[in-house]
Amino acid sequence: MPQGKDTAEQSEFRAHCRSWLEANKPELPKLQLPQAAYEVMTDDHVVYLRDWQKKCYEAQLIATDVDKRYGGHGHSGFQQIASLEVRRAKVPYFINWIGLGMTVPTLLAHGTEEQKERYFPKIFSGEEIWCQGFSEPGAGSDLASLQTSAIRNGDNWVINGRKVWTSSAHFASHILLLTRTDKTTKHAGITYFVAAMDTNNGVSVRPIHKLTGESGFNEVTFDDTVLSDSMRVDEVGNGWKVAMSTLTSERGAGVGVGAVAGESSHSHIGQLIDLAKQTKRNGRPVWDDLVLRDRILKLMVRIEGSGQNTRRARVRALTGDPMRLPLQSKLTGTEIGQELHEVALSILGMRSSLYVGDENAVDDGKWPLAYMNTYTGTISGGSSEVQRNILGERVLGLPKTK
Ligand SMILES: Cc1cc2nc3c(=O)[nH]c(=O)nc-3n(C[C@H](O)[C@H](O)[C@H](O)COP(=O)(O)OP(=O)(O)OC[C@H]3O[C@@H](n4cnc5c(N)ncnc54)[C@H](O)[C@@H]3O)c2cc1C
Repeated sequence: MPQGKDTAEQSEFRAHCRSWLEANKPELPKLQLPQAAYEVMTDDHVVYLRDWQKKCYEAQLIATDVDKRYGGHGHSGFQQIASLEVRRAKVPYFINWIGLGMTVPTLLAHGTEEQKERYFPKIFSGEEIWCQGFSEPGAGSDLASLQTSAIRNGDNWVINGRKVWTSSAHFASHILLLTRTDKTTKHAGITYFVAAMDTNNGVSVRPIHKLTGESGFNEVTFDDTVLSDSMRVDEVGNGWKVAMSTLTSERGAGVGVGAVAGESSHSHIGQLIDLAKQTKRNGRPVWDDLVLRDRILKLMVRIEGSGQNTRRARVRALTGDPMRLPLQSKLTGTEIGQELHEVALSILGMRSSLYVGDENAVDDGKWPLAYMNTYTGTISGGSSEVQRNILGERVLGLPKTK
């Protein structure tokens, strides 16, 4: 069905997205998929999700508005429709979320023609999966302290150093890489590269195990890795500016080329209400507990408010600073998710300690698993404290933190 303000072409494209998704929504695989794309661990997950992404690309749901020269579909103003319909259809997420959500916007703004033509088509199809090598053991919130060195050697660069918390590196073929090319200055001494995850070129990956039992992120080391100068993005010493462009996309304010599908807070709140109705305490549904119902209601108000902000963000005249609302969304979205799962654990009471793999666990243990995973959202891509600093300083114009 067309949406209120669709043009005839948009309406036709929306109908295409809906009917294609309806006809092609994949069977859920026998293997249980992780709750989020950044937790993918097994080869079976990778094969299943890569295949799904490729089909969506071929159906024009990915790279919808990207120039045909770079493997896109060359439309204008259709990506938002495709992404919305993908989210609405509740289909599996796109495994190459870093490639689609970070590499493409970054290279569109700062990459060479050669880089765009070389990398984009395989990012869209999922043939080449990307990861993000920014954080280091001594450089997280203070990212500009990074020490991984890049030393020039003729037309090449030699890379040495260690990255940490690198999501998807265990199956990625390429990495967005921040390096230090000048030790005498902080931000202006950073240079940005793209690199292949080539074990024959000194790149090694070691998985890091999390509290949840999953290991979606890794430590990545570079030991005399040689990169050609054509892998450099933007000028030497301009890496901080390029990194800010990547982080803007990571935090939800960038140019999207494909939806990050998956369950929204709206669908979670529905499941939370069902859980409260089905769970009994002292012989009565937990839903009858007025204090708990009040918490759920307040959550619903916050979720609705956050959804309205997302809608407002699309109307430039209502937002003023274009970064204001998207930057808030990362903060509020992740904190709402955390609170929602805290409420779920209160509903389950003692049974919340029964985890994935326990046959008595409610909903196969998904609630305690999701609760622990919600802590990743308030850390990755910039912790909530850092997000608050950014909003205070850049959006509200408050004095800088020391
Ligand atoms: C699930 C997950 C996936 C990740 N994936 C990737 C990835 O793919 N690639 C990548 O490069 N990185 C990744 N990260 C790393 C992430 O970006 C960092 O963890 C994050 O930036 C915080 O850095 P840190 O862990 O070093 O913590 P620290 O910077 O050491 O911070 C510790 C605490 O101090 C607080 N703090 C620090 N500075 C300030 C300040 N100025 N004001 C107020 N409070 C402050 C922080 O909020 C935090 O609570 C991932 C992290 C997680 C959890």
